[in-house]
Amino acid sequence: MEACPVAAAEDWVARTAGEVRAEAERRHPGETPTCASGISPSGPVHLGNLRELMTPHLVADEVKKQGAPCRHILSWDDYDRLRRVPAGFDPSFAEHIGRPLSAVPDPCGEHPSWAEHFKEPLRESLARLGVLVTEISQTEMYTSGAYTEQIILAMRRRADIGEVMARYQTKRPVQADTGQPDDDEPRNAKGEYFPFKPYCASCGRDDTTVTGFDDATTTITYSCACGASFGPLPIAEVAGKLVWKVDWPMRWAYESVTFEPAGVDHSSPGSSFTVGGHLVKEIFGGEMPLHFGYAFVGTAGGSSKMSSSAGRAPTPADALEILEAPLVRWLYARRRPEQSFTIAFTDEVGRVYDEWDALTRKVADGTAEPASVAAYGRASATAEGPLPVTPRPVQFRTLASVADITAGDETQILRIVRDLTAGDPVATLDEVRPRLDRAEAWVAGYMDPAARTVVRPEPDLDRLADLTDPERAEIKILTERMGDYWSLPALTTLLYGIPKLQRGLPLDAPPTPEIKAAQREWFVLLYELLLGKDTGPRLPTLLLALGQDRIRYLLASG
Ligand SMILES: [Zn+2]
Ligand SMILES: [Zn+2]
Repeated sequence: MEACPVAAAEDWVARTAGEVRAEAERRHPGETPTCASGISPSGPVHLGNLRELMTPHLVADEVKKQGAPCRHILSWDDYDRLRRVPAGFDPSFAEHIGRPLSAVPDPCGEHPSWAEHFKEPLRESLARLGVLVTEISQTEMYTSGAYTEQIILAMRRRADIGEVMARYQTKRPVQADTGQPDDDEPRNAKGEYFPFKPYCASCGRDDTTVTGFDDATTTITYSCACGASFGPLPIAEVAGKLVWKVDWPMRWAYESVTFEPAGVDHSSPGSSFTVGGHLVKEIFGGEMPLHFGYAFVGTAGGSSKMSSSAGRAPTPADALEILEAPLVRWLYARRRPEQSFTIAFTDEVGRVYDEWDALTRKVADGTAEPASVAAYGRASATAEGPLPVTPRPVQFRTLASVADITAGDETQILRIVRDLTAGDPVATLDEVRPRLDRAEAWVAGYMDPAARTVVRPEPDLDRLADLTDPERAEIKILTERMGDYWSLPALTTLLYGIPKLQRGLPLDAPPTPEIKAAQREWFVLLYELLLGKDTGPRLPTLLLALGQDRIRYLLASG
């Protein structure tokens, strides 16, 4: 795809929003600009597909924040054929291959159709993300006859369309799986090209071949692989749809789409965009939307529940389970569209939260870069208003440790979080929500099981009997003084300071290499006595989580 200048700009959202307003005004003065996304509800909509929605959303929202109206349409390609049964679903659904997604039965029995089954979770995620869209069901559009005029036009101009298709056919690369049908050049036995594919009135599938179309009467005849044949029938009464590469530009014109980005896999010669650019102008009397290709968004680290069903990739709902909504928005808002990136469900989650918290502080005290302030603004609020935030954003890693150590016991969690916020203690856990819920979900679903904290039920009497005198002295200082240092920063000072005190140095003495080595040994000793292994969550957090009685019990014989 030709590089669009707006994509290369520093602030691509502001630049594209400006272009969208100017372009809409030039094309249809006074008309509300339209940004478009398209999703095929053929299977679980993966987190990677969210860029198809976030890119136009950020632009449309920017226009609205400037005080101008803007429409963001989500075109559900639910009238596309079922191409294959996704991994993890009953293979008997293969019976429905070739039928519209909206006509395939629901895999769970609670939705009206296969398509609705996959729409619902995405719709819920979009609401949580503050992504406002106007949904358009292509099933409703096609079956209501909304496109009849365009279908007749395309059929009458089939020779011209076939000629454009043929021009690009030789250059047509093997299509990556774009979720689009690969039946763009259907020709019948006589070599005639028709841009319309009926869904068979007998079997419901699109294994059909158009055998004739009468330009004057607009009647169509077709046969199907099932043996049925129909017609001549008025095309307005025949179920079916335009082939993808004709359907897309028809809709650009029909909806007056001003801006529609697409995955970079649409960028090759002969792609839907190249062909569509000709057809929208030459056939449908419209213009190509402003567009650019956006790069791939990958995911890393899955949960135990994901690996259980083969091929299960994370969805936006999975991301929202562990990331606050503004953070998910930020992952997209801070990157230029041509930058690919990975959303990790691993320990990286803690780092993303830390970066977000650091940016929040910088924005608050006015020290953030303008580009970062803009990305922060787009992440944390839409034109409709701010997204929910955690009132007291305790560090995510700390909350994850607390959730891990307490196994989710709310009374214990509240006690610990109060100690963590000793200077201005929280009153209820609601003050650390939704972040606490995200941390609990991460611990339950994504934390490396080997890293889970299991506290010793009983003291390690053998190890305690073998303590050296200096070790015994360190434990004595801890158990005697920890009550006076019972907060996160104070316990940190005490824990690092104990090896210093033992050497007759003050708590705040600068660490020497010798002190550092002694601190490491001391921490290992505590991990061994408390957890039975030589590593674990940060010790001050661990101690606060255990509580003084439990610590004294486990270190007692010392
Ligand atoms: Zn369902
Ligand atoms: Zn049939």
